[in-house]
Amino acid sequence: MDTDPKQPDFSTLAVRAGHRRTGEGEHAEAIFTTSSFVFQSAAEAAARFSGDRPGNVYSRFTNPTVAAFQDRLAALEGGESCVATASGMSAILAICMSQLKSGDHIVASSSLFGSTVSLFNTYLQRFGVQISYVALGDYDAWEQACTAHTRMLFLETPSNPLTELADIQILSALARRKDLLLVVDNCFCTPALQRPLALGADIVVHSATKFLDGQGRCVGGAVVGDRKRVGQDLFGFLRTAGPSLSPFNAWVFLKGLETLEIRMQAHCRSALGLAQWLVQQPLIAHVYYPGLADHPQHALARRQQSGFGGIVSFDLDGGREAAWDLIDHCRLLSITANLGDTKSTITHPATTTHGRMTQAERDQAGIGEGLVRISVGLESLADIQADLEHGVRH
Ligand SMILES: *Cc1c(COP(=O)(O)O)cnc(C)c1O
Repeated sequence: MDTDPKQPDFSTLAVRAGHRRTGEGEHAEAIFTTSSFVFQSAAEAAARFSGDRPGNVYSRFTNPTVAAFQDRLAALEGGESCVATASGMSAILAICMSQLKSGDHIVASSSLFGSTVSLFNTYLQRFGVQISYVALGDYDAWEQACTAHTRMLFLETPSNPLTELADIQILSALARRKDLLLVVDNCFCTPALQRPLALGADIVVHSATKFLDGQGRCVGGAVVGDRKRVGQDLFGFLRTAGPSLSPFNAWVFLKGLETLEIRMQAHCRSALGLAQWLVQQPLIAHVYYPGLADHPQHALARRQQSGFGGIVSFDLDGGREAAWDLIDHCRLLSITANLGDTKSTITHPATTTHGRMTQAERDQAGIGEGLVRISVGLESLADIQADLEHGVRH
């Protein structure tokens, strides 16, 4: 007879996983704002420092509030281990520092967060790590870019800002065949919509700053994966180098995870409604959203994600002038490059997030002067549309 107890569902884990109640009996999770922890004896201190006995030592690498966030996110991503970091960028740095060495090679998607590209090109290359970039959905290009020194494949799906997808299972098969690490930045979907580890990724990285927080309050990051690579190797880097998450920020993210699923469902619902409305507007040349039936990877998005996400981009006829005019007429939407907030945000990628690329690089990436990106928040869809009305009709 099958006596395995049922595993809790996602929404239950999001609220309950990782919580260790203290002797005070608190119902909400406590914030442990302490830099160090006290031992019963010199022998116990020695055992905790050596790792012979589990327990807290020092908040650079052991803190109960940070641990609660790590355990909850690990449960949601379906990973063995999670290490939280001071930012999304330090999470990516920690992956590279713990998994790569001089002489190694990364194959990465050409549609990556700008600072990730800067980290790879400006800093990693200086330490002898080479990077090749390929089009996200060109699987032959991924394979052809691999050399004898390739160690890692790195991607975001869906991409920013054009919402292109890659099939994680296809890239996972390539990674298995060539004994490479497949790293997926799951910032846009979060585990509420996409679970890369279950699709064959080895490591998932997050900017917790975005949807995990969900209210634009704190900067932080996290890495999820197996016990050896993340729980030991990456944890070892964090313990030594110290890009650690503060207990307060960990607590904000921990509580953010409790509402993640219902927030993501609301973001998805409004984003789809907005995308369908934008398609009908006279000045809009093209709308990029995986939930639209004419999105080139709509079928993959249906298969790989349980929702289409909260980011919608579109091209305006009239180039930069029309795009800036639309943005400047917004009274509700915030002109800011952050995303994943309850507040809708509007951005002109060509002159902000992608402004440091050359014109040729932008052309190749499809980032035109008329492109606008919206991170659809939790305001009413009617109010968001009313705010955009001027710019899409006149
Ligand atoms: C914001 C972002 C990052 C970097 O995260 P920070 O928390 O800002 O350091 C990495 N990847 C993606 C996809 C992002 O959107």
